[in-house]
Amino acid sequence: MTVRLARAALLAGHHYMIWMVRRVTRYSSTVRAEAQPVRNSRRQRRGQRGHTAAAARPTQQYRMRRDINHVVSEAFYPESPLLTAPNVATRPRSSRAAWAQGELVLLDTSTLRARTARKQGMSSRYNLMHAQLAAGLLTGPAAELSTLGVISPFAAQARLLESLLPEAKLDEWGASTVHRFQGSERDVVVYDTVDSGIGVRPLHRWFTEGQNGGDGARLLNVAASRARDHLVVVAALDQLHRSRTTQDAVSKFFTMLLERGRTVGWESALDHSPVTQRMTTGVVEILAEDLEGARSVEMWLPRARLVGLRSLIPSLKLITDQDVDTEPVTIWCEPDPDGYLSPEAMQAKRGGINMRPCRPILESSAIIDDVVWTSTGCLLGPDPGVVLRTRHAAFADAVRRAQRRRPGIAPGSGQLGDECGRCSRSLIRFEVGRRGLPTVGWGCLICDSRNSRQGRDRAAGERQLIWGRP
Ligand SMILES: [Zn+2]
Repeated sequence: MTVRLARAALLAGHHYMIWMVRRVTRYSSTVRAEAQPVRNSRRQRRGQRGHTAAAARPTQQYRMRRDINHVVSEAFYPESPLLTAPNVATRPRSSRAAWAQGELVLLDTSTLRARTARKQGMSSRYNLMHAQLAAGLLTGPAAELSTLGVISPFAAQARLLESLLPEAKLDEWGASTVHRFQGSERDVVVYDTVDSGIGVRPLHRWFTEGQNGGDGARLLNVAASRARDHLVVVAALDQLHRSRTTQDAVSKFFTMLLERGRTVGWESALDHSPVTQRMTTGVVEILAEDLEGARSVEMWLPRARLVGLRSLIPSLKLITDQDVDTEPVTIWCEPDPDGYLSPEAMQAKRGGINMRPCRPILESSAIIDDVVWTSTGCLLGPDPGVVLRTRHAAFADAVRRAQRRRPGIAPGSGQLGDECGRCSRSLIRFEVGRRGLPTVGWGCLICDSRNSRQGRDRAAGERQLIWGRP
């Protein structure tokens, strides 16, 4: 009796133990009988031997379909897999979409080689091409989705995805970060992992440090376990998984997903899309058409021979002259290694276009009014690679907000740059500091790196004054 009382007191006093007791009480004998088909690996059985019987018994879950639960359980609860309640299998499915056939779908973007960038060059990560693929999924005529969650670990990407949701659907459809999605559930969950290892590098530690109990595993667990009927994961698998050398919970998750799920190429996201198209020919010609009558243009062009720029100069100039009070055109481009603009960029500058050198440039894009262009190579270079074009007003606005550089140490988007007082090179906006961390700088590539730190600061101060003139 005393022993029993003491045990009760201990149970009552210990949070974790109370939770355990609930687990055991909910675990009925019928469920236990059905638990037998759940195959435990040898490693798991070994792990269980040391635990009490209660701790090893599975908990029943009522949300995820069997395959989704299997992947989540194997990756994150290997010691005590969750059991899917019998009524989950008989639950009617209320969502239908060509791309959500099967409980687990992996939209593999490995061969796309999409670029990852940072919001305003500084903070949270986003991947425009991933968002454009999501636009393809969500706007297709075949998508009948009862409740939908589009989630990403990165806040900047969540904002982009949110812009794609039609207003009429906002009660049933939602987009957010994984963190804010905790406690929710949706029939269909699209999880955008964002990181591609191209542009922003290295991969976020959420993907490289995947031990169970860590942040990366927790994120994946929360994201995947929000899904009731369909889980669609958008990921550059060669980066996030195939190149991994460690076997941890995150790696187990992707292995199980590949084993149990249906892997589809990124192109299939565009099969029925009325808004996102892959452009294979006539890129510069169609860009020129988009520029006709446009009111605002912002481009990001990584270093390349800008062979497509020349023919666009007259249209860009028209847009520039249309509104003399603001600068409606900003073309960010990477300077040559000697600190000068490339000859093509120089020609555009002489033609009155606001060419702004910046280092580094992680993305390749053009936002022209309601249209978002992206490419894997330089959009106006000799080889633009894969080119995607999305016409979507709210998305274009969200992209502008994500990319927009605010004025500060260096002039931002929609502002003119300046020239070095000594050598007349265009001053460069630097967005990377020591140890590769993002921080804004403003100066001449050659003169300012030769001067002493003091001289550089003084020069920068003077420039700040010059630039500040109306
Ligand atoms: Zn200089």
